[in-house]
Amino acid sequence: MPRSYVQEARKRVGPKKLRIRPIIERLAVEHADATIALTFSSPLELLVSVMLSAQTTDVNVNRVTKTLFRKYHAPEDYLAVPQEELERDIFATGFYRQKAKSLRGMMKMLIEEFDGEVPRTLEELVRIPGVARKTANVVSAELGHAQGIVVDTHVRRLSQRLGFTKEEDPVKIERDLMKLVPREDWARFPHLLIWHGRRVCDARRPRCEDCVINDLCPSSRV
Ligand code: SF4
Repeated sequence: MPRSYVQEARKRVGPKKLRIRPIIERLAVEHADATIALTFSSPLELLVSVMLSAQTTDVNVNRVTKTLFRKYHAPEDYLAVPQEELERDIFATGFYRQKAKSLRGMMKMLIEEFDGEVPRTLEELVRIPGVARKTANVVSAELGHAQGIVVDTHVRRLSQRLGFTKEEDPVKIERDLMKLVPREDWARFPHLLIWHGRRVCDARRPRCEDCVINDLCPSSRV
């Protein structure tokens, strides 16, 4: 897109600080059902599900965990079976060797350092083997202690299109978003962008004509 056109579009929609609240409010109405797509019933199941969701779909993870969580309830259960058995049980999520290894390391640390409980803070979560910042952000937000903003492929694309960031690196994008998004919205904001990205603001063919925030978006084609 030519630079002059981008500048013109930015001027038309106004500064991002004034746009962020109406954008969140409209998306919250439009996607009232926007929540995490993983199925879990405890912090441990949440942590395992998020870890397994790397490089695969949430639907696929839910299919696997439906059986997995009937067999494995506590951290000790994951260590009580041979690694090969755990690998077979999570095989369909892909990268099963690495994931089984991470799961066992994760459970060992939960038992040894956190009394078998899932910690709540980002600093503690990222110390667990196999838990990167994105996983830690998802888990802490879902447990009601959001300390950052989850940046996945949809959040990155929409944040760029909406003019919230010019960065490519997820850590830098998160930093920009944390300065902009009101703290009380840190947990729901990524869900809103993820669902809007899936339903309307498609990577290849954004449906700007059906978008409830097209008058606030500098990338609108309408
Ligand atoms: S107006 Fe278009 S580019 Fe902007 S958020 Fe909506 S669908 Fe995406």
